[in-house]
Amino acid sequence: MAVKSYDVVVAGGGVAGVAAAIAAARRGARVALIEKQCILGGLATSGMIYIYLPLCDGYGHVTAQGLAWEMMRRSVEYGPFTTPPGWAGVTEGYSGIGGKRFRCCFSPGGFELSLDKMLEEAGVDLWLDTRVVGVRTHDDRITSLRVANDSGSVTVRAKCFVDATGGAYLVQLAGGKVGRDENFMAAWWMDAAEHPEKYLLTEGLSISRLGNRTPELSFGECRGGRDVTRFVRRAWSMLRDRYDALPAEERKKNFPVQLPSMPQLRKIARIDAVYNLADADQGGHFDDSVGVVSDWRRAGPVWETPYRSLLPREVRGVLAAGRCMGTEGLAWEIFRVIPAAAVTGEAAGVAAALAAAAGRDPSEVPADEVRACLLSNGCIVDAAPEFGVDPGNCEKTPEYTEN
Ligand SMILES: Cc1cc2nc3c(=O)[nH]c(=O)nc-3n(C[C@H](O)[C@H](O)[C@H](O)COP(=O)(O)OP(=O)(O)OC[C@H]3O[C@@H](n4cnc5c(N)ncnc54)[C@H](O)[C@@H]3O)c2cc1C
Repeated sequence: MAVKSYDVVVAGGGVAGVAAAIAAARRGARVALIEKQCILGGLATSGMIYIYLPLCDGYGHVTAQGLAWEMMRRSVEYGPFTTPPGWAGVTEGYSGIGGKRFRCCFSPGGFELSLDKMLEEAGVDLWLDTRVVGVRTHDDRITSLRVANDSGSVTVRAKCFVDATGGAYLVQLAGGKVGRDENFMAAWWMDAAEHPEKYLLTEGLSISRLGNRTPELSFGECRGGRDVTRFVRRAWSMLRDRYDALPAEERKKNFPVQLPSMPQLRKIARIDAVYNLADADQGGHFDDSVGVVSDWRRAGPVWETPYRSLLPREVRGVLAAGRCMGTEGLAWEIFRVIPAAAVTGEAAGVAAALAAAAGRDPSEVPADEVRACLLSNGCIVDAAPEFGVDPGNCEKTPEYTEN
């Protein structure tokens, strides 16, 4: 079997994986990014998601910079929207979403083009249409991945790996424990229709959404291919019911254009980390914090991200980033979205590059070293005392829970 070697290999080209790969490559590491689809951005693009949730606490304070802010800026590069006027020097434009928070809409296809440009600029070796199908370990440490594509199987070695697969697949393949949680049915898709109250890309082209968190639409945990098939077919059936109910004339103007190519499962599996962030940690402080994540649903206390939440408890040689990092309960709900994927992806990528350069396991890299590098990237690693504190003069933003 052919063998390839890198300093850092990132599995999964969603927002977390792209951020990790760029961050590691910018620190001089030789990096490969392995993605099973021919799409970059993961759920954020192939799931027809279109809202870059807030990088602020809801009280006017920016809570994340670095790659999280850079990616938000690049998400609107090929599309009709701007980053929100009034924030970060932007004076005019239309962010596509109301309220006063630092968030914006993007065109999924446009975001994908920008992510590719960012990877190219950073010099990341991108492997599309390539799936990680196995891992080799030595003393509980991942030493190589087995990947497969139409050319066959290849062994990919690295000094450090990042699991950004959205379902902790590297850690699972290495025998590490994971946690799971329930899901609700959802269908977000692109259609030829005009919904002024929803997301109008341009005249006659929108993204629509069906599904919500009601007991009838509860789906439970996803444990593999059969569940994914069941989930996707139920979403298709919801869509057919919707179109079947339209009068024939209306169906000529209102029809599906593009359905998601990823299952819109919010939570698949997350690692059992050295420290699993939990509900009580909102507003708390961690000496090893590597980033700040805000509550995307409402204004309020923010979350610091301990470095230990990126480190699987039982498997070495790998960090997790994005929605498969170590969180549970409400913390998982907060950390499973795009801004947190970018924040934790950048932290994991920096740590992986440091580990590879020093020939150490990521668990042996002092969090202070990771923090220092992130600070030099312009990131915010600790919550400022004013974060999450209502100054009393803020216009109320409606609570957001559908995402
Ligand atoms: C209905 C719904 C609405 C949402 N709305 C919003 C919203 O409005 N705003 C927001 O910010 N977030 C929203 N989210 C959440 C958000 O889009 C995702 O959770 C986030 O983008 C996750 O990023 P990630 O990089 O951690 O994981 P993913 O996007 O899941 O990326 C993982 C990548 O790994 C790849 N992969 C998996 N296994 C393998 C393998 N074995 N080999 C190679 N590649 C592999 C996948 O193809 C994928 O590209 C929504 C989610 C849902 C379901």
